Amino acid sequence: MNLGIEGRWALVCAASKGLGKGCARALVADGVNVVITARGQEALEVTAAELRAVNPSVTVKSVAGDITTEAGRAAALAACPQVDILVNNAGGPPPGDFRDWDRNAWLAALDANMLTPIELIKATVDAMAERGFGRIVNITSGAVKSPIDVLGLSNGARSGLTGFVAGLARKPDLAGRNVTINNMLPGLFDTDRLHASTQSTANAGGRDYQSVLDAKRGGIPAGRFGSADEFGALCAFVCSAHAGYLTGQNLLLDGGAYPGTF
Ligand code: NAP
Repeated sequence: MNLGIEGRWALVCAASKGLGKGCARALVADGVNVVITARGQEALEVTAAELRAVNPSVTVKSVAGDITTEAGRAAALAACPQVDILVNNAGGPPPGDFRDWDRNAWLAALDANMLTPIELIKATVDAMAERGFGRIVNITSGAVKSPIDVLGLSNGARSGLTGFVAGLARKPDLAGRNVTINNMLPGLFDTDRLHASTQSTANAGGRDYQSVLDAKRGGIPAGRFGSADEFGALCAFVCSAHAGYLTGQNLLLDGGAYPGTF
C-alpha cells in the first residue's frame, strides 16, 4: 500500500533504538524525511546511517540531545524544516515503590512522559492545521490500560498525557483540518528496555533472568514479544494519508495480553 506520505517530514523523538527507531525505519521506508533524536550520539549516528541505507532517496538528520529539556526540543525542532509528522517518545520512568518517590521524581516523570509531548505538540500543531495535514503519535504504554504497580510514575504521567490528548484531538480546529493525534500503547516489545526491566526484576527478586523473561512471555497469548518493526509499521499507517479519520484513539499492541473486551 502506498501510504501517501512520501516527501513529508517527521520528527521522531528518542529513536536511536527500540520503538522510536522502528517508527523511524517504517516512515523512511515509505519515503518520509526524518529527524531522529537521542541523547547518545554514537548509537544515534549508527541508526541514522542504517536509515539512510533503508531508503537513500530520503533525508535523515540526527540531533543528539535530551528531548525532555527545552534545549533538546528546540534543537530537534530547528533541524526539521517542517513537522508534518511528530512521533513523541522518551525513556520510561524507573520502577519503584511510591513511598520512595519525592516531588522531584514525579516532576522528572511528568517532564519526560507528559509535558515534553505536550510542548512538542504545542510547537507544531498550529502549522500542521494551517497546512491541512498533521499526524501526531505519542508512544505511551499498555500500562495506561493495565497499570503495573511498580511503574506508578509511568502510570500517572502517561495517563495525564492520555487525558490531555483525548480532549485536544477532538478540537474541530485540529480534527477538522486533517490533524490527527493518537497514542500507541506498547505491551511487551523486544527492545533494550524490556531486557533492562527483566534484569532489574530478576535482581530484585533473586531470580534468574531467563525465568523472568519466560514468565513475561508466558503471559502473552501471541506467545512472543512484539518487534520494533511491527510497531513501526502500525505507526507509519497511523501517520499515513489514509488515516485522517482516526484520531483521539489509544491503540494497544500487546499480542492479546490485555484481557478485556474493550
Ligand atoms: P529503548 O529500547 O530503551 O530505547 C529508548 C530510546 O529512547 C533510545 O534511543 C534512547 O537513546 C532514547 N531516549 C531515552 N531517553 C531519551 C531522552 N530523554 N531524550 C532523547 N532520547 C531518549 O526503549 P523502548 O523499549 O523503545 O521504549 C520506548 C518507550 O516505550 C519508553 O517510554 C518505554 O517506557 C515505553 N514502553 C516500552 C515497552 C517495551 O516493551 N519495550 C512497553 C511499554 C512501554 P539514549 O539513551 O541514547 O537517549
